Amino acid sequence: MREYEIAAIPADGIGPEVIAAGLQALETLEERCGDFKLRVKHFDWGSDYYKAHGRMMPEDGVTQLKPFDAIFFGAVGAPDVPDDITLWGLRLPICQGFDQYANVRPTRILPGIASPLAGVGPGDLDWVIVRENSEGEYSGHGGRAHRGLPEEVGTEVAIFTRVGVTRIMRYAFRLAQSRPRKLLTVVTKSNAQRHGMVMWDEIAAEVAREFPDVTWDKMLVDAMTARMTLKPRSLDTIVATNLHADILSDLAGALAGSLGVAPTANIDPERRYPSMFEPIHGSAFDIAGKGIANPVATFWTVAQMLDHLGESEAADRLMRAVESVTREGVLTPDVGGTATTQEVTDAVCRTIRGSN
Ligand code: ATP
Ligand code: MG
Repeated sequence: MREYEIAAIPADGIGPEVIAAGLQALETLEERCGDFKLRVKHFDWGSDYYKAHGRMMPEDGVTQLKPFDAIFFGAVGAPDVPDDITLWGLRLPICQGFDQYANVRPTRILPGIASPLAGVGPGDLDWVIVRENSEGEYSGHGGRAHRGLPEEVGTEVAIFTRVGVTRIMRYAFRLAQSRPRKLLTVVTKSNAQRHGMVMWDEIAAEVAREFPDVTWDKMLVDAMTARMTLKPRSLDTIVATNLHADILSDLAGALAGSLGVAPTANIDPERRYPSMFEPIHGSAFDIAGKGIANPVATFWTVAQMLDHLGESEAADRLMRAVESVTREGVLTPDVGGTATTQEVTDAVCRTIRGSN
């Protein structure tokens, strides 16, 4: 019996609802597969913890997570706690503390879910966006001078390092190589930004030489939004900076039907530390507590987690069950259905039990 230790951090808003759904699917997979076992420890960190303790997690929070094989994360953010505190107090210290430099975001149109793009269905849009997750525009460098005065200046410095760009580029080329089409698009803005972005282009060309079987091209981020919308079939694997990929993956999620189906994995490819798996969406307080959050993004990220742990058979079984349930039209309201989170979850678990 293979055993894994999982840290679950449901956190805020719909986080606890979708994490509960994901854990139900995991338990069903354990029973169905019978050859692996997950031991899950819950952490009550997040905005409520902040209100009680003045911080989002204990001071040694990151250290507490270190022994785990993976982190299963819900969503963070609350209407009455500043973003600066929620983001920099919980998610980012984990991503940065464990050097989860590759943020991997698969997008495809699931059967039964309509894309807002006319004539585009399953098979027409099948992408993986690789987001640089450790530096770039979100490095936190910059500042404000002459605050509040007419001559005030604010800077937000994007930091790109040769080490950082080379490692994400290698990860993206390797991922593209592992996919049937062996196709990679490198996104920058090197016409207008003359330093770090030009370095991205140069490093892409250098790393490309290590992967002669991967076909690759370069796109400017503005033109990329048009290409994603107008020629989705022309794309496969995509690599971009922290900010660009953040924006492009919201577009990708919307084109695939809803943010409620978009998963993400924060990976330490060297496996020195635990990687973290979460739905892309936030805490969505507008629907929290109503029982209608779409659990599909969370199921998909559970599949990413199982793949990362080496349990690809269970991961495939889960995704087959999810696709069969969406195909049957058991859908939450965000993707045009009337089912609740629990109904979708029960349908997926029933399908897992009956799968061969
Ligand atoms: P954050 O600031 O953390 O990104 P947010 O409040 O901006 O959070 P998101 O949670 O990212 O918002 O989602 C935006 C909207 O999409 C929500 O208001 C919600 O209506 C919808 N949404 C997001 N996730 C889901 C989901 N899993 N199921 C259904 N609807 C969702
Ligand atoms: Mg948001």
